[in-house]
Amino acid sequence: AEKAKWPKETVDLWAKLSKKEANDIDTIQRSIVHHVTTTLARAAYNMDNFSAYQAVALSTRDRLISRWNETQGQLSKVDPKRVYYLSLEFLLGRSMDNALLNMGLKDTYGEGIERLGFNMEEVIESEVDAALGNGGLGRLAACYMDSLATLDYPAWGYGLRYNYGIFQQRIVDGYQTEYPDYWLNFDNPWELPRLDISIQIGFGGHVQTLQDEYGVTRHNWIPGQSVQAIAYDVPIPGYDTENCNNIRLWRSKPTRVFDLTSFNEGNYEKSVEDATNAEKITSVLYPNDNTMAGKELRLKQQYFWTAASLHDIVRRFKKSMREWTDFPNQIAIQLNDTHPALAIVELQRLLVDEEMLSWDDAWEIVIKTFAFTNHTVLPEAMEKWSVPMFEYLLPRHLQIIFDINLFFLQKVEMKVPNDRGLLNRLSIIEEAQPQQIRMAHLAVVGSHKVNGVAALHSNLIKTTIFKDFVDYYGEEKFVNKTNGVTPRRWLHQANPQLSALITETLGNDKWLKDLSLLKGLAAKTEDAAFRKKWMTIKRANKVRLAELIKARCNVEVSPDALFDVQVKRIHEYKRQFMNILSVIHRYRTIKSMTAAQKASVQPRVVIFGGKAAPGYYIAKLVIKLINSVAAVVNQDPAVGDLLKVVFVPDYNVSVAEVIVPASDISQHISTAGTEASGTSNMKFVLNGGLIIGTLDGANVEILEEIGEDNIFIFGCMAHEVEDLRHAQRYRNVPMDPALQGVISAIEKGTFEDPKIFQPLISTLTVGKDFYLISADFASYITANQQVDAAYKNQEEWAKKSIRCTAHMGKFSSDRSVKEYAEEIWNIKPYSVEDEGHL
Ligand code: PLP
Repeated sequence: AEKAKWPKETVDLWAKLSKKEANDIDTIQRSIVHHVTTTLARAAYNMDNFSAYQAVALSTRDRLISRWNETQGQLSKVDPKRVYYLSLEFLLGRSMDNALLNMGLKDTYGEGIERLGFNMEEVIESEVDAALGNGGLGRLAACYMDSLATLDYPAWGYGLRYNYGIFQQRIVDGYQTEYPDYWLNFDNPWELPRLDISIQIGFGGHVQTLQDEYGVTRHNWIPGQSVQAIAYDVPIPGYDTENCNNIRLWRSKPTRVFDLTSFNEGNYEKSVEDATNAEKITSVLYPNDNTMAGKELRLKQQYFWTAASLHDIVRRFKKSMREWTDFPNQIAIQLNDTHPALAIVELQRLLVDEEMLSWDDAWEIVIKTFAFTNHTVLPEAMEKWSVPMFEYLLPRHLQIIFDINLFFLQKVEMKVPNDRGLLNRLSIIEEAQPQQIRMAHLAVVGSHKVNGVAALHSNLIKTTIFKDFVDYYGEEKFVNKTNGVTPRRWLHQANPQLSALITETLGNDKWLKDLSLLKGLAAKTEDAAFRKKWMTIKRANKVRLAELIKARCNVEVSPDALFDVQVKRIHEYKRQFMNILSVIHRYRTIKSMTAAQKASVQPRVVIFGGKAAPGYYIAKLVIKLINSVAAVVNQDPAVGDLLKVVFVPDYNVSVAEVIVPASDISQHISTAGTEASGTSNMKFVLNGGLIIGTLDGANVEILEEIGEDNIFIFGCMAHEVEDLRHAQRYRNVPMDPALQGVISAIEKGTFEDPKIFQPLISTLTVGKDFYLISADFASYITANQQVDAAYKNQEEWAKKSIRCTAHMGKFSSDRSVKEYAEEIWNIKPYSVEDEGHL
């Protein structure tokens, strides 16, 4: 509006001065030095790697922001349909390297900073990870944001800006100890505070019921408390495009209005206490992966986040002056797990209570807008909230949930009369003491599409947790969207040598945006010179990992040994326990060998990493056992280099970027039917690492793509699990004899005081071995022997490794995101034109 009033010369002046900065080396160096001398108030003589990082980051950020501005400015004019990805976790890791590569500026910056006396790779190491996630779910959200930007989809993420990300793990006396991750200590150049965007979020209070002028009953929620949500924007640049998307993270702050009330009542301390409580909401990420904590503060986080995001989305929609019925034509909202399921209720509340739509009109809009991704079938992970706690925090939302449930169950009753059991099973409310709200049921009822994250998992949810819903709604509502990973971060950035070899071999770098082109590598398996180059790069990556292991674990490992990796959250269903038990078996086997027999043993380095939830006692004991076994094995002269065991502390995205390219074999060995997809399995195979795994999650589809000669599959299948558990419980199946030997060795005190491990061992005693370690143990040992034998033939191994990479095209997150866009969100790409700011 202002702009229209300006004289031409003012408009021209803005146009001239707001031209984007050039990207030649001279301009870039000037911009770095400018930030050193002004923003950082430093000079050449007191520079270190960290301040070099800060200056390069600030200069990169300038370029990101100008793309961000241009993209968002053009999008608000064009106003295409957008998708909003609601995720409580975004596990982004470091940003600088990725931003420079995606914008095509890494080489120029690298050279620029080199001439200024610094090494780019060392400078990059100064950045702390943004670790606002637990594991696979949060990292998936980060890969999807990269693909959405790269494919020019108009998309925003919405999440929380936690002051503390996932804890830092240190190993003390073999045990995990947790330290707070105060990542903002070093300032965060990758966010833009939007202090002007502030939204009031209410909690508690009561509901007024009144009649409006037409005699219609209306509800008005009067919250008892309120806090402010402040927006922080994180720009997400696409690869090889001008488009730059956004993740908006909310931070909680006390509201001034509210403080004043207490203050005016003369209760200064209470006003400060309330302010502290308001800040607490976005203080810390809950450190549970695939388990529900049930804490009131977590529910507050969920409401705070969904309410702020919906308010923002609705505000943006209202600017366009469209009809409400257009809402689902303009907006798709994807729920990453049930964590944001309250958004369904909040949108219904906004439409009915505040925008005065009828219940049915509002509900139609809600269902067309939302889609829900299910991530697990594990019972301990299913989100449920106790009705009394919920009512205290969100009284109006509880009424709405009861109404949603009532109308839904009435429809069920019409379709399937007189089936109380069915109503009970489908109900959003579980009749327990106290009653519980089943968030997965709310998410299914309030969405038009529900998806699982790998073919096996998507089929499994249709026959287990959502079976009755499939019978009621029909099959079409339940679809599969197999996860994917971004090849930009997980190959191009993490494995630059391999990326360069692939580009050289294929003749160009188009594969980075169309991963199916990797199949062009398949023909090269027969080229001995190519195999040699391929394996030389793998070895260089192993040398780099060996250095990290030396630095972090103080263990020397040989890069010529087979590197065997299991890095992921520590969980019983992921069976790190089975892995370390098999390592003990290997240790005992080697110890029993003659020197001649030892000569034919394939040397192996077994590498573990991952965090256990701080309250997960059994998972933490697994870490202790791994470290106790490592302490004995690594010192044993009878074993020497034939076997080394290490636990790399504080596994995170940056550590993964070193480990993934360096693995020969990695372990994805969950009990069949428990791992929804897995994404690290895809990253390893993409980098030419073979995998040993069960027929679980995306392993099944990886097998389909790469072929059975290039993967080591073992263990029972998902459909056999129930029978095996039953047999074990009621038919006295004896423990596997090799496993029995391993357990006896632990019980004899081979690795520290056996009393320590008793609770762990007792999870295996007959009838209790829920994750079927005993049932799968023999085939697991055999599969590991096959790995050893295959690795001995290095030429054949190289062929397998090349075939792995060549056939991973399907697992790009670009493919996943395109499927969501076309089959669920109904959105189209919009490509920003490089036209300057005005
Ligand atoms: N944690 C981190 C730091 C990761 O980078 C990844 C995936 O790459 C995961 C967890 C998920 O691993 P998985 O799929 O093995 O559970």
